[in-house]
Amino acid sequence: MQLVLATQNRNKAEEIKPLLPPYIQLLLPEDLGFIGEIPETADTLEENAVMKARFIFEMYHVAAFADDTGLEVNALGGKPGVYSARYAGMNKNADKNIAKLLLEMQGVNDRRARFRTVIALVENGSPRLFEGTVSGTIAPQRQGVKGFGYDPVFIPSGSAKSFAQMSLEEKNRISHRAMAIERFAGWMKNRAGH
Ligand code: IMP
Repeated sequence: MQLVLATQNRNKAEEIKPLLPPYIQLLLPEDLGFIGEIPETADTLEENAVMKARFIFEMYHVAAFADDTGLEVNALGGKPGVYSARYAGMNKNADKNIAKLLLEMQGVNDRRARFRTVIALVENGSPRLFEGTVSGTIAPQRQGVKGFGYDPVFIPSGSAKSFAQMSLEEKNRISHRAMAIERFAGWMKNRAGH
């Protein structure tokens, strides 16, 4: 079956692709001729994920799913959370977001944080949601250059490396996104009787 991943983030697509069962053919909005920006203006990860998937579903009448992810930092009361992309401004600059986070966390001893991903599937009927989380800590400074977003400052629990020091395969073994996709793919498989 064909499924559209409602994202303009190539990194997300790269991570998700190898995690899907082979009978799912992954399409991106650009494969349908979509140019522009997919709206994600809600105040929860759940609503944002649904908003993105529904946007593509309504425009092209094809099953669509979307990933909305937030970094929830304990000492910041769960922030930046759903505002992670826009933390340092509307232009969604990863470098500035990290700089702001490191500044906020300067001198803070409790560095616990978690990534939370919500996947929404929108086809006929009501949307289905799948969640994945990974706990870890915020590093005192950037470590590594792989990955994207906040990866250089997130060290998953039980690891000495940040996500940005891991290969895609290593990150995909433990990440929030991988866990959410695993649940999503499991549900899809079950439904398809595979
Ligand atoms: P969104 O889900 O595209 O809205 O992403 C929210 C913010 O979190 C953006 O700043 C992303 O760069 C960042 N982000 C999303 N997923 C990850 C990840 O797996 N690692 C690091 N940062 C991420």
